[in-house]
Formats: sequence, C-alpha cells, structure tokens
Amino acid sequence: MILLYLGLTLLVISIVLLFISGRQRQLAGLPGGRVIYIDTRAWGAVEKPLYDATLGLTGKPDYLVQQRNAIIPVEVKTGRTPGAPYDSHIFQVAVYCLLVEKTQGSRPPYGIIHYPARDFAVDFTPELEDSLLDLLANIRRDEHRPEVDRSHADEHRCIHCGYRSVCDQKLA
Ligand code: SF4
Repeated sequence: MILLYLGLTLLVISIVLLFISGRQRQLAGLPGGRVIYIDTRAWGAVEKPLYDATLGLTGKPDYLVQQRNAIIPVEVKTGRTPGAPYDSHIFQVAVYCLLVEKTQGSRPPYGIIHYPARDFAVDFTPELEDSLLDLLANIRRDEHRPEVDRSHADEHRCIHCGYRSVCDQKLA
C-alpha cells in the first residue's frame, strides 16, 4: 500500500515538475475543456488509488461519478479559477481517465476538473491519450538524465515556479 501511495506521489510530482521545469514538448491540440454544470451530490469519494501494472501507473482522483454506463473521474483544484484548464491539470485528468478504463473496464468519455468557480469537462480523446503516453515516456526517459534543459522562454512561468530559488536556468 505504501508503494502505491509512493507511486502516486511520484507520478504527480513528475508531471508537475515536468511542466514547472519546462521540459514538456509543445503538445498541439490538447482539448481546452468544456465548461459544464454538475451536481456534486453524485460524487463518490475514492478510497483507494487506481493502479495499472502494465502501464506502471497509479493515481487517485478526488471523486468518481457514475453516469449511465460511464464512470467519470473528477479532480478538485483550489485557488484561482483559470479561463481554461492548465495543461498539467488536463494531463492529470487524462491519467485518471486511462486508469479508470484499465481498472474498471469502461472508457470515460471525459474527465472533470473542478475549480472553485467553474467546472470543465476534458474529453478523453485518442489524441489526448496519445499525448499522455508520449509524456509519460518522456518522463521515464528523463528520470535518469542528470540535467534537463529548460525548453520554454516564458518568464511568467519562472516567476511563479516553486523551484526558482534553486534553478540555474530561470528567466526571472
Ligand atoms: S525557474 Fe523557470 S526554468 Fe527553472 S524550473 Fe522553474 S520554470 Fe523551469
């Protein structure tokens, strides 16, 4: 069980680090997310992480919602509500969609990102799944490299980055 939680933590940290450090390739065509209105009373808390040995992937969505024949993962975010979901949040929900498909046997058509002021549905398209699998492959490849160069020129990303104080590639 400890290993499962450790795997979950590492996965989330890896994804966040990937975006913070700017190592991600530019992923064209990510779904931006559709604003939706939802009834939170149907949300069921998730007790255990979802795990798929084939993918070596673990994740625990905040909620799972049973909708007709589909199980929809929900990720709850606090803080400022963006105009559109952040890419890192989209990928996080995509991980949960993939894990739901692998563990529950039915593919969610979308996942939900719940921000304080708005909810977005992120369609779990084959294109998003392909981008996610590419991203995971890149994370695993880069895990063993001693250094990974910054791949963006966005000062704002550095200004808000939690690793700015120790980063020798920061832009601001
Ligand atoms: S400070 Fe900038 S370059 Fe350094 S890790 Fe953060 S986002 Fe990447």
